[in-house]
Amino acid sequence: MSHKVLVIEDEPTLSRLLSYNLSQEGYDVTVCDHGGEGLQAAIQRSYDLIMLDIMLPGINGFEVLGKLRQNGVKTPVIILTARTAEEEVVQGLKHGADDYITKPFGVAELLARVSAVLRRSGHTIPTQAESQDKVITAGDLSIYPERYEVILAGEQVPLRPKEFEVLLYLIQRPGMVITRDDLMNVVWGFDYIGGQRTVDVHVSSLRKKLELGANSVCIESIRGVGYKLVMPKKIGAG
Ligand code: CA
Repeated sequence: MSHKVLVIEDEPTLSRLLSYNLSQEGYDVTVCDHGGEGLQAAIQRSYDLIMLDIMLPGINGFEVLGKLRQNGVKTPVIILTARTAEEEVVQGLKHGADDYITKPFGVAELLARVSAVLRRSGHTIPTQAESQDKVITAGDLSIYPERYEVILAGEQVPLRPKEFEVLLYLIQRPGMVITRDDLMNVVWGFDYIGGQRTVDVHVSSLRKKLELGANSVCIESIRGVGYKLVMPKKIGAG
């Protein structure tokens, strides 16, 4: 059975792109180009995922999201935000969005995030091929780069994509001091306008999520410079 995706986006080029690529991937896609109509559709019918633009005719994306959650609709929501609008991301996550994609985005990123959000919300079971893909392990931590997935002591860690990308970059360079600028450029891109606070917010959230494991990696702050990932000490070894 294919997953039902509701796209609420008023920019025709973008909604066609989303619709085309998601349909190609086997999703059952419905498009709404108006905030109020999108909200009605999301409340009246059952979807597995909602892709939600912020600037919409009628009511905006934040209001749509707020009303959905007020109505007890728990469908995962990915918000579509402008690349330079850090505040939109912060607001969206506060209103209960599960993830966000900054425009413009590539098809690979889109499909990876949609699939990751559906998997996190328990809508998919990994296929045989997926469960055998590449894995990076460190103590109790396993990272699946192709699936944007992290398992800590047998439990899935719910990471935002940018948190995942920060972790992946750091764990591929254990013990090295990585500057905030490096992380900024690699994870957010050279033309990102948001401040370094974005990096700090993501690292701090990532750290909290990874602290739950006794035998996990540790992200140390290097004052005035950046961060360093320290691999777990082997418990009971040596
Ligand atoms: Ca719009």
